[in-house]
Amino acid sequence: MSKRKETMSKVTKKREKKTNESDNNTSEKEDDIEEEEEEEEEQKNNLAQKISNTKTNTNLIDYFTIKPLQLAIDHIRKNICLNILDFNFNKNRIRPINNINIIPQDSQIILYWMSRDQRIQDNWAMLYAQRLALKQQLPLHIVFCLVPTFLVAPIRAYRFMLKGLHEIEKECQQLNIIFHLLIGQAENILPKFIENYKVGTIITDFSPLRISRQWLENVAKKITTIPIVQVDAHNVVPCWHASTKLEYGARTIRNKLHKHMNEFFTEYPPIIKHPYTSSNDYQIKPIDWQAVDDSLQVDRTIKEVSWAIPGYTGGINQLETFINERVMNFALRRNDPNKDVLSNLSPWFHYGQISPQRALLIIAKLRPKFKDACDSFIEEAFVRRELSDNYCFYQENYDTINGAWEWAKKTLNDHRNDKRTHIYSRDDLEYARTYDKLWNASQIQMIKEGKMHGFLRMYWAKKILEWTKTPEEALDIAIYLNDKYNLDGRDPNGYVGIMWSICGIHDQGWKERPVFGKIRYMNYEGCKRKFDVKQYENKYASL
Ligand SMILES: Cc1cc2nc3c(=O)[nH]c(=O)nc-3n(C[C@H](O)[C@H](O)[C@H](O)COP(=O)(O)OP(=O)(O)OC[C@H]3O[C@@H](n4cnc5c(N)ncnc54)[C@H](O)[C@@H]3O)c2cc1C
Repeated sequence: MSKRKETMSKVTKKREKKTNESDNNTSEKEDDIEEEEEEEEEQKNNLAQKISNTKTNTNLIDYFTIKPLQLAIDHIRKNICLNILDFNFNKNRIRPINNINIIPQDSQIILYWMSRDQRIQDNWAMLYAQRLALKQQLPLHIVFCLVPTFLVAPIRAYRFMLKGLHEIEKECQQLNIIFHLLIGQAENILPKFIENYKVGTIITDFSPLRISRQWLENVAKKITTIPIVQVDAHNVVPCWHASTKLEYGARTIRNKLHKHMNEFFTEYPPIIKHPYTSSNDYQIKPIDWQAVDDSLQVDRTIKEVSWAIPGYTGGINQLETFINERVMNFALRRNDPNKDVLSNLSPWFHYGQISPQRALLIIAKLRPKFKDACDSFIEEAFVRRELSDNYCFYQENYDTINGAWEWAKKTLNDHRNDKRTHIYSRDDLEYARTYDKLWNASQIQMIKEGKMHGFLRMYWAKKILEWTKTPEEALDIAIYLNDKYNLDGRDPNGYVGIMWSICGIHDQGWKERPVFGKIRYMNYEGCKRKFDVKQYENKYASL
């Protein structure tokens, strides 16, 4: 057996022993953790090296010589090939939703039903739709089905999305592609649309979340005469291809992602001005965005934020400032909420307004200059993000205690009746009325800015477990607040982040203590050792 394999099997055996939860020997556990950490570091390094060595953009230009970044990206895209027909599209990105594979002869358009990935360029679903439309010599249309209410999304979230869609409408006008915004549930409005426009095929994007899956299932039940296909345009490695099962953690998915890198980590070809139109196209009225806004049935008290400019252009500009001003400190300072070093890209990723794969293609090129920052970004934006999709795709209970591993359910149950030092209601928490100024400040940052710092999100969720009557209540409140105020809320990353904090998913058992049991604990003193807590508390002192 090779030395590497030997280490791996030793680690696996020890891990099994630990998961059996009979192991209370601290020093042995520390050895285990150390060994696992080493193994993970090696995995991370290999993956980042592979990513940065992958030949992607053409050698003629790079991302950093042309300014602004958006222009450089446009140039690179155009240099990849003429259009998607010249590109070797990887069919593993696609999965059929029904078993129809014949496009009716009288079809008049190809339709991209856009949902999670709200952008034109750098979108594999959109590219596949144009590929089909070019092959069939048919016009290309996009439909977005807008529901007037979605979970607890307030006007802040809706306007961010609608402004991004408005930019898409304008871009479509230049590309000879027709964009429709339809109001209502897809299953109620798409069948009529399909009939009226004589749609030949529906291409849609992918989300592992319950509501989106239900939408697609309902549409597929009603539309039974044309092919419906799904393209994973959100992940670098399509979720169903990266792994066929629920992964235990980053350690178990990382090598699988690595294995598929060559196949999927490529540049994007351009979406071009579409050559086919129909006479009907010209009768389509521009969208009345004010009327759309007025039709929403949402909480209008949670206002838009000024720091995050919605849409593709806003997202690419945010990426550009990250590259120019923050990335150099990302590795060292990203756990310090007083330092502005994060990418801040999560709102744009969440709405699919920019592609994480594009961000990775660019950041990977910085590895020779900022190795640690680049490796950390790859770990977060690739491995952790795609692990979240894996969890929500294969674990239907992704937002309840039932989604936790057995050891975590047991430990939370064992400590269910432990005395809590403080109990807060949902209202107390929502309006930042706890004794803990750091926790209140995090909540206030989220309320005011629509994005809580990543490090504090962990502390914030764990304290909710500590201060509520049951883990179930803690989960419900954390999800409610996260989804309501964070622009990036209602996302697999959010459910996973909360489940990690409260239910230990993708984590391991730690020293047992009241309320938490073996779930990893965080406290105020620990935060004080990491950053200037007072500075942060003063910055977000009141609502
Ligand atoms: C309790 C809790 C709640 C969270 N809620 C959300 C949420 O609603 N939406 C959301 O997108 N993320 C959530 N996260 C994950 C993470 O905190 C955010 O993605 C990150 O803070 C977003 O900021 P950024 O874009 O500046 O991140 P950066 O640190 O700049 O990272 C770049 C990108 O990597 C990805 N990423 C970073 N950290 C993680 C992570 N831990 N897991 C998965 N992907 C990650 C994100 O896509 C992020 O945009 C949550 C984490 C916790 C612990």
